[in-house]
Parts: sequence; C-alpha cells; structure tokens
Amino acid sequence: MTYKVTLLPGDGIGPEVAFAMRKCVDATGVAIDWEEQPAGEHTIKTCGTPLPKEALESIRRNKVAIKGPIATPVGKGFRSVNVQIRQELDLFACVRPARYIEGTKSKEKDLDLVIFRENTEDLYAGIEFEKGSKETLSLIKEINSLQPRQIREDAAISIKPISAYASARIIRAAFEYVVKHKRKKVSLVHKANIMKFTDGLFLQTGREIAKEYEGRVEFEDVIVDNMSMQLVQRPSYYDVLVLPNLYGDIISDLCAGLAGGLGIAPGANIGDEIALFEPVHGSAPKYAGKNKVNPTAIILSAVMMLDYLGEQKAAEKLESAVRSIIKEGKDVTYDLKLDRADQTSVGTQEMADAICRRIKELS
Ligand code: NAD
Repeated sequence: MTYKVTLLPGDGIGPEVAFAMRKCVDATGVAIDWEEQPAGEHTIKTCGTPLPKEALESIRRNKVAIKGPIATPVGKGFRSVNVQIRQELDLFACVRPARYIEGTKSKEKDLDLVIFRENTEDLYAGIEFEKGSKETLSLIKEINSLQPRQIREDAAISIKPISAYASARIIRAAFEYVVKHKRKKVSLVHKANIMKFTDGLFLQTGREIAKEYEGRVEFEDVIVDNMSMQLVQRPSYYDVLVLPNLYGDIISDLCAGLAGGLGIAPGANIGDEIALFEPVHGSAPKYAGKNKVNPTAIILSAVMMLDYLGEQKAAEKLESAVRSIIKEGKDVTYDLKLDRADQTSVGTQEMADAICRRIKELS
C-alpha cells in the first residue's frame, strides 16, 4: 500500500531537516507518495501569502502531513502560520513526548512523559485588540461597566477563551492515550487559583472526566508554577500531562530541554480526522542552509507518523536506528557532542545517511 502524505518543508532549516527525514522514512521501506507543498515566509513573495490554499487543501485531502518549522515575525506582520493551520484544520491535540535517549546530555534517565497541549483556544486563539484602536476603546468601556476592576485606556487586550467542549476533548484524548498505551497517570496542569473561571473550567472538566476512568487511570492536578519546579526536580514522577494551550507551549519546551534539547523533540497535532506531525523546534534562521542542525526531531516526528499510519514495525525500526546512532555518538550533529565545537560532528544529511544505513543493518 502506498500512503499519500503532504510534506511542508517550511522555512529556515526546515527544507534540510525535511529532506533528511524523507530519506530515513523511505529507507524503512514504507511506500509514501510525498506531496510537497511550499508554505512559510518565503511564499509571501511567490504566492502573496505564507499559507497558500493549495497547502491546506493538500492536507485536507491526504489527512496526514508532516512539516518543517515555519517562521513567524515577533509582534508584527502575519499571524503564525502554525497556529492558523492548527485552527483551520481543528487539530485540537498537540502531542509531544519527552523521552530519555541514551547518548544525549540529558541526566534524566527515567524521563518518559507525554504532553497533551490544547491547540485551539486560550491566549493563542488570536483574539487580540491593539492599544488605542476604536474596537479596543469600546471593549474597555464595556468591560469597565460590567465589573469593578478598571482597565486603563492605554491597554492592549488579548482574550483567553477556554470552553468546556475544547477542554473535554483534549482531556479525554489524554486519558484515552493512557489507556491505549498502558500508562498510569494523567496530571492536569492549570492556574485555577488565579483564573477561576477559565482555568477553573479546565480543572472542573478534568475532575469530571477523571471519574469515568476511576480505578483505571490515576489523576492529579498541579498548579503550573509548581509543575515547572517539580519537572526540573523529579520529572520521572510524571507520566501524561494535559494542559491549556499557553502552559502547554512553555512546559513542552521545558521538557524538550530535560530530554536533551530542541534538536531531538518531536511532536504531532491531531484532530478527529487529520494529523500533522512536526518537530517542536523553530526555523533557527542562523543555521539555515548550513547542513548543520540535528534532523532527529523531525525524524522522531515521522516515527509518530508511521505509528499513526499503523506501520508500527517501521516506526520501531526507525526509532531504534535513531537511538542507536545517538548512543554510538559518532555520526551525530554538533549539538549531540559533549563539546559543541567538536570537529568530528557531522552534518544534517550525514547523520540522516548514518540512520539510513543503520535501518538496513537492523532489517
Ligand atoms: P528555534 O527553535 O528556531 O531556535 C532556537 C535555537 O534552538 C537555535 O538557535 C538552535 O540553537 C537550537 N535549535 C533549534 N532547532 C535545532 C535543531 N534541529 N538542531 C540543533 N539545534 C536546534 O527558535 P526561535 O529562534 O525562537 O524561532 C525561530 C523562528 O521559528 C521564529 O520565527 C518562530 O516563530 C519559528 N518557530 C516555528 C515553530 C513551528 O514551525 N512549529 C516552532 C517554534 C518557532
């Protein structure tokens, strides 16, 4: 069987890590017809938009996609293409595993957790009001008339919607994952002591869903600031975390750091019918085109994709090859060497070629 998969190479280091990933997936023997679609900062010039409609249509049609990072200017310019794609396709669950890999600099040998980040709401919903605009001033007037705490007229405003519907489906996805993968516990992360209505609703929804899984899945809730400290001190205590969008974003980078850095952190954005796989890292523009960065994060994202496609054997083979190359520590990029200036480090494509050779040896 041949799978049709949309491939968005993206910006910066995206095309080179995407090319490396494609070689490794092809080496597993799974037949994939890659439908490559340009999207990102670079398509503004050629297509007049960072997200051409052909790219979205291709993902909708194929239902499975993998992408490299796409750049977003800070505080100005176009809205994040990554956020737009997740919202347009209703990819409500951002799933990010953080597992120890022998040979990395991580000291957390027992680290094995999976993050479920809500992907469509929260301060990421993109509902923002600029300082001084007509709409902002009218909104401020309305809010000030409804409650005693007064917002200053020179404020900008971001809206934080958290619904019972979106909370329930991400929390349920986390519980179902625990059951399916024979894990133990869901830890729900929030700040409901301060945001009683939004985070409070997320927590309340979690407590109700937890009752359905009583006796099968353990449940606890942890306040996000405490969770940040706990994760640094004893990450192996945690199993599956479920978080609203913003905390999920921050905590997943923290966990990527614990596991050994952005270069090895994979991810997936999953909806009811469509799944889009992508590394946690961004476009790292200063390394673009230098054949220098680590392709592991997107390759491990492809492992998640193969698993999603039902190709478990190929997924396991690819993951074993990656792990064994990193454990050996010879054909790896600079960030995986003990000393980043180590002259024996190899480039992105050379590391991918070593992984391809290892796949053949494991076959
Ligand atoms: P970044 O992840 O691009 O880079 C931060 C640093 O992490 C790099 O300088 C590098 O030292 C390291 N790094 C990242 N990927 C690596 C890899 N594969 N191998 C080795 N080291 C790696 O983060 P940033 O600089 O904050 O963001 C750059 C751009 O990427 C921004 O425009 C941002 O919006 C975008 N971004 C996109 C996504 C996405 O597409 N999902 C995610 C994050 C950031």
